[in-house]
Amino acid sequence: MNLKPYAADHLKSIGRLFKENNSPLRNEFQRDRDRIIHSASFRRLQYKTQVFVNHEGDMFRNRLTHSLEVAQISRGIARTLGCHEDLVEAIALAHDLGHTPFGHAGQDALNTCMKSYGGFEHNLQSLRVVDYLESRYADFRGLNLTFETREGILKRCSKKNASLLGVLGERFLKNTSPSLEAQIVNLADEIAYCHHDLDDGFRSNILTFKDLNSIDLFASVCHDVKMQHKNIEPEKLMNESVRRMMHIIINDLCETSFANIVKLQPKCIEDVREQNLLITFSSKTSAQISKIKKFSRQYLYHHAKIYQMTVAAKQTVEKLFQYFVEDISRVPFEFRKDMDDKPERIIADYIAGMTDRFALKMANDIG
Ligand code: MG
Repeated sequence: MNLKPYAADHLKSIGRLFKENNSPLRNEFQRDRDRIIHSASFRRLQYKTQVFVNHEGDMFRNRLTHSLEVAQISRGIARTLGCHEDLVEAIALAHDLGHTPFGHAGQDALNTCMKSYGGFEHNLQSLRVVDYLESRYADFRGLNLTFETREGILKRCSKKNASLLGVLGERFLKNTSPSLEAQIVNLADEIAYCHHDLDDGFRSNILTFKDLNSIDLFASVCHDVKMQHKNIEPEKLMNESVRRMMHIIINDLCETSFANIVKLQPKCIEDVREQNLLITFSSKTSAQISKIKKFSRQYLYHHAKIYQMTVAAKQTVEKLFQYFVEDISRVPFEFRKDMDDKPERIIADYIAGMTDRFALKMANDIG
């Protein structure tokens, strides 16, 4: 690994909450990644909705495949910029661990249920999963990850909650930046979902080429592919177009970020934290990304087929929440036994940890 001075360095990590001996075989960020992969929450990502409900088809992205795609994109960017590949991988694989079943609809519903009890933020929940809810090690609660991985997982946080998090929350209060690795994963997440949602939307027959061509960048790459490959099948045309768009956007990110780094000359990770965000798209590409997001909201996320799922998801989460609030002992004992939290928080943790199908089945069983 060719680490630049501004990269995070596993040998200079701020460390773990509980001190542990170093491993002879793996660096500290690799250990973080491995702990995440072996966690139960990571396995459950497989059965959680990204956009399409898990049982709608086997070919759509779920939270697990999304996280793997984010990790792959992040590693490529980190390698190009001389940042820490293992750290971006750990952050990427953990970034969605706190997501509820049913994607954003589930998260919004749970946030509404928790309104009077401190709310529900999925980024904060991802941190809560790795710091507290995963419980399988003899010496500590949580996965005891390094500060740098935890910093990256906590992408966003309200000032109120940040003030409860000590050093980790400080950047939200002081408006400073996280490591470049955290910044990379944040934008790799956007790149991943912007593209794979178009792809899934196309394969589900919700999006057509006619719709997609309203995105200038898509129209331009799609035109190039057709010029180079006459009579190409629609599926290949779609794949080639999405792949080329990603390539253009990732290249833009690397070039723009590299120019930012050259201009501001951060000499160490502390310099990075004091400066504005250095991992950015050019303004032209930012505008393209905004267009893709706007397009997806209009044509995909608000499509009747997806919207139906959203309504059902909200009802399911609300129903489960009410059911457990009526009697906390309905939450299985192992989820409450060592918890010092208020009952509503324990319920939110329990519901957030459910897979789509588990939540649906339970909502059905309770009648
Ligand atoms: Mg994500």
